[in-house]
Amino acid sequence: MIKKIDHIAVAVDNLDEAIAMYRDVLGLEFHGVEEVAGQKVKVAFFKVGEMHIELTAPTSEDSPAAKFIAKRGAGIHHIAFEVDDISAQAADFESKGVRMIDREPKIGAGGAKIVFAHPKSFAGVLFELKEPRQAEESE
Ligand code: ZN
Repeated sequence: MIKKIDHIAVAVDNLDEAIAMYRDVLGLEFHGVEEVAGQKVKVAFFKVGEMHIELTAPTSEDSPAAKFIAKRGAGIHHIAFEVDDISAQAADFESKGVRMIDREPKIGAGGAKIVFAHPKSFAGVLFELKEPRQAEESE
């Protein structure tokens, strides 16, 4: 089950310039930068209410984010949904005919498990499923 939108990711060429814009012009709360080696990107986080905006900049020419920018230009890259059980949600998508980009979860920012669904399955929108590394045990 999809719980909420965790973040919207924006692909950018120049991370420092983009950080300055989001922090100083928009005035959003900056939560730092993390390098995600598996995706060959550096990611900057901004908190907006309950969700985040992630600025994603490629660290290598063969990064998927670099290919995205080369093909479509900088801009909105994906929307991430938080889920409790990423394998169950991916299986549910597949049972409904959704084409998944990832067969197995990868490790994203913050150690979360992530998978991407193919944008052809969702009218051109790239959706990420994210299972946070540590669920809050409040019950
Ligand atoms: Zn993401």
